[in-house]
Amino acid sequence: MSIYLLIFFIGTCIGSFLNVVIYRSIKGISIISPPSFCPFCKTPIKWYDNIPVFSYIFLGGKCRVCLSSIPIKYLIVELISGILTLIFYIKWWHLNYWWFFGSILIIYLLVIISVIDIEIMMLSDLFSYLLALLGLIFSFSNPMFEGVFHKKLLSSFLGIFLGAGFMYLLMVLAKFIYKKEAVGEGDVFLMGGIGSIVGYSGIFDIIFISSFLGTIYGVYLIILKRASKHSAIPFGPFLAIACTIKIFHPFEIYSIFI
Ligand SMILES: [Zn+2]
Repeated sequence: MSIYLLIFFIGTCIGSFLNVVIYRSIKGISIISPPSFCPFCKTPIKWYDNIPVFSYIFLGGKCRVCLSSIPIKYLIVELISGILTLIFYIKWWHLNYWWFFGSILIIYLLVIISVIDIEIMMLSDLFSYLLALLGLIFSFSNPMFEGVFHKKLLSSFLGIFLGAGFMYLLMVLAKFIYKKEAVGEGDVFLMGGIGSIVGYSGIFDIIFISSFLGTIYGVYLIILKRASKHSAIPFGPFLAIACTIKIFHPFEIYSIFI
């Protein structure tokens, strides 16, 4: 049991670092220095106030110095990172520990990409390139690929081109039909990155799952009158969730239907 608590805690610590990467990527400041500071009064945060989840709860979600409310999203990112680290550990550590390392690094990157997309509706190409790189590096341990080492690498490589190519076609088509940018260039790069992980045969599943989830969310917003048919919603998080599902449990959608 204690090993699970430890893994969860390590996950929340990494989540705390992901928060720093997200915040500083949006603001365009260095990730390494200066050390963590309050986003409101800029006071450096003491180590004992920087313990993931616990400090947030202990301080009631407020900065110790200026008492400004720290947005709950920081806590959510820490919790999600902790939970994902734990469930991926339970699922993959004993089966394929190389894939545990690969998949969890990919998941952290997907968390960063999703939160930035939700916050500022932008997908950073740099993170998508990193995703593609991780997909290629860990292709040898990827349970979605079959065959010898170079065949797996090729599956990953083809996934990049098919994923990006498919999304690019969708972008051109959407522009033609809706006369506006419905699919962004960032989505093309992100889909390329995801393609390296799920391979060319997994692209369809990603499109299917993400469109399904995106539609449900869109209808939900319209029912709540928070959005209209013409509102833009960030699509990156849905692609990321679809990819996470595929990595956690490799399956082929069509096998459900036949
Ligand atoms: Zn403060």
